Amino acid sequence: MIKANDPNRKSWIEVSKDSDFPIQNIPFGVFKKTNNSICVGTRIGDFAIDLNPLNELNYFDGIDLDATIFAQETLNAFLKLNKTTWRAVRDRIAEIFDANTTMDEAHKALIISAITEVEMVMPVQVGDYTDFYSSRQHAHNVGCMFRDPDNALLPNWLHIPVGYHGRASSIVLSGTDIHRPKGQQLPLGADVPVFGPCKLMDFELEMAFVTGQGKEMGDTISTSEADDYIFGMCIFNDWSARDIQKWEYVPLGPFLGKSFGSSISPWIVTLDALKPFRVEGEKQEPQILPYLEFEGNKNIDIKLEVQITSDSFESHTVSKSNYKYMYWNMTQQLAHHTVNGCNINAGDMMASGTISGNTPEAYGSMLELSWKGTKPMTMPDGTERKFIQDNDSVIMKAHCQASNYRVGFGEVRTKILPAKK
Ligand code: CA
Repeated sequence: MIKANDPNRKSWIEVSKDSDFPIQNIPFGVFKKTNNSICVGTRIGDFAIDLNPLNELNYFDGIDLDATIFAQETLNAFLKLNKTTWRAVRDRIAEIFDANTTMDEAHKALIISAITEVEMVMPVQVGDYTDFYSSRQHAHNVGCMFRDPDNALLPNWLHIPVGYHGRASSIVLSGTDIHRPKGQQLPLGADVPVFGPCKLMDFELEMAFVTGQGKEMGDTISTSEADDYIFGMCIFNDWSARDIQKWEYVPLGPFLGKSFGSSISPWIVTLDALKPFRVEGEKQEPQILPYLEFEGNKNIDIKLEVQITSDSFESHTVSKSNYKYMYWNMTQQLAHHTVNGCNINAGDMMASGTISGNTPEAYGSMLELSWKGTKPMTMPDGTERKFIQDNDSVIMKAHCQASNYRVGFGEVRTKILPAKK
């Protein structure tokens, strides 16, 4: 067993039972302290832990780490290492903060800050971003709405983890407001497009994984190797302007309907921490090609929730889904991504695609929840939502539940501001 995953371990830092960040989590992130210094760190309970002074004070003795590995403004240098080192660091952090260990008070002052005193910043400089389309129910729903309910899945969908290359530099952190985008749209029944603010602003509930350093260009990563190249995961909101997307997406796929912004949660939860929550996925039929075959349980039971907050109501839940509903898993996505020899780099981000479950309450976008606007959702203040309105905030949460603790991701929260003039 991975030492840091010991379900019975307690920390000398107090953690509430419903915290996303018990000592069994130990995620990695980057934050700014009150003195404006940027820190690579982790979190236990409601405390942020600066890993650089821990390294300087020799707490990581015996692990092959550069002296400046945590004196960085992103996790990228750490991501360039390998799974053995990531695991050794996380295991050591579990030991340092174990209830049976003590820490010098002077060290505590250097290392620990209240989470309320730090400002989270982007954890990773994302080099390349790929968005998959791997939930069967989502692909089915979209196929029903925009094409033919009798042939909702396109012929390739059950054979290929379909994906597209997105825009890495417009991925922003939770708490960053996004302006409603403008663009071309084709009004219903019209022959020529109009230009203006998007009218069908939507979220997509997704999870993303962050990669370590891949192989040489030309090489491939097999499904049996894939987990070694995946560092961890975060929540991902793939903001989507449905009217812009619908008019532009044929034949090359999404472009301006997506590239104006995507939002992520700040802590990267390691694949190791998620291991106890692995579950079997749906049986894949028809037979997939050999390079996509895999062994073991590769889906993960991550409970997901989407809420909308506005000026006149708080945290209204509109969707409850689960990452375990994915048809194609991360292992297959990464094997497929590299099967042509495409390289991956430390800090690449790959999102799952909208995660929709099999019941309408578990759909992962307003497009599906309101069924293209035909079934508006009533909010607590009596107003209706078909899509997201100006000044609405969308909040996505995710966690895995064990019997006596949870491993969670916190949240990604984004406010939609009116289109710029
Ligand atoms: Ca998407």
